Amino acid sequence: MRAGFTRTLSALAAMLLLPAISLAQTVSVEGVRLWRAPDHTRLVLDLSGPVEHNLMTLRGPDRIVIDMKGASNAADFDALELDKTPISRVRHAVHDGANLRVVLDLSRAVKPRSFPLKPLQQMPDRLVIDLHDTVAPVEKTIADVKSSGGDRDIIIAIDAGHGGEDPGALGPGRVREKDVVLAIARAMHKEINAMRGFKAKLVRDGDYYIPLRDRVKKGKRFGADLFVSIHADAFTRKGANGASVFALSQRGASSETARFLAQRENESDLIGGVGGTLDLSDADEMLAGVLLDLSMTATMNDSLEAGASVLEQMGQVTRLHKPRVEQANFAVLRSPDVPSILVETGFITNPAEARALSTPAYQRKLARQVARGVASYFERKPPEDSLLAKAGPQKPDQVIIARGDTLSGIAARYNVSVAALKSANRLRSSALRVGQKLRIP
Ligand SMILES: [Zn+2]
Repeated sequence: MRAGFTRTLSALAAMLLLPAISLAQTVSVEGVRLWRAPDHTRLVLDLSGPVEHNLMTLRGPDRIVIDMKGASNAADFDALELDKTPISRVRHAVHDGANLRVVLDLSRAVKPRSFPLKPLQQMPDRLVIDLHDTVAPVEKTIADVKSSGGDRDIIIAIDAGHGGEDPGALGPGRVREKDVVLAIARAMHKEINAMRGFKAKLVRDGDYYIPLRDRVKKGKRFGADLFVSIHADAFTRKGANGASVFALSQRGASSETARFLAQRENESDLIGGVGGTLDLSDADEMLAGVLLDLSMTATMNDSLEAGASVLEQMGQVTRLHKPRVEQANFAVLRSPDVPSILVETGFITNPAEARALSTPAYQRKLARQVARGVASYFERKPPEDSLLAKAGPQKPDQVIIARGDTLSGIAARYNVSVAALKSANRLRSSALRVGQKLRIP
């Protein structure tokens, strides 16, 4: 009796030991997140290591089955917020004795796509499952937006950096760049739409990731006259502070900080996850490569001028990190024909700046200045077919001198004489300095 009991115990121990050994070799799903974008739903599994997986689409009822070889689950699938997604329920079970099977019950058919992501920065190995909607969201075409009876609005594409899986830089007190920049982008959207002759379009309007290349394409699809990407990045030195504006450089960077930031920004796709979009129009990109060289100079000059104007206005409410527009090879600025700038609203790693950046009042203040900078650039250089070119700018009480401004240029712009400008501002010479304020009589 006694011996039998011992035998049973050791048999039990052996049974317990076996799974313990194989467990050590399995991969476990440690976390799960869900992001809803306008055209797809993204499910992300955090893994303890790389996993071999297989995805099947089944009909009647619609469902997706994901098998992960030798995997176990430690994540809470029940906590997922499934509202507004095509997923009605998530089930999971051990299948074939050793594999983890996750089943997504669907309320409508989707086009699934799955791909792994390698660990990077704070992110572990991940498995991404994208469920693309089969009905595309309605997006106004360029023709709809632009042709409103001859005189068109100037279109500004506003791109809130990061989003979804990519939180961007993290500041003290859990301040996340992706949230701060979305708030600033939305405030800027309001500011610009309130200006006569302008129309703003948000590239990202929610907590989801858009690949850098797709952001560029979206700006083009909006028919944007200017693309503005909004950021609030981290820097290795906590003390680093101030706002900066960047334009593209296909050669070297204008400073070590610019090079560092561009490299960090370009890693976004590796963190946010790019699994290849459904439209495989890479011919686009080949063409873009050719055009890039042909038309880049004009686009680049426009980007630098618009950037200088924005920097000028931001300097009124915040310290500037650098007094000039900087340049580096930012992927999100690689547009052959849409002038594009990247605005760093401040360093989120700086405690004082992080605090300010997370308050709605400061977000609005920054948004207003960026919008003013954009407006003042286009007042100087309105597209020929725009309402602004036809109607002329509204005469302001005063202007702030930007790079490239001349007294005769300003006089012509506001239809006053140079002499009147000089006397109203008690100027002895025609020399102007950047940042100088001029009263317009
Ligand atoms: Zn950023």
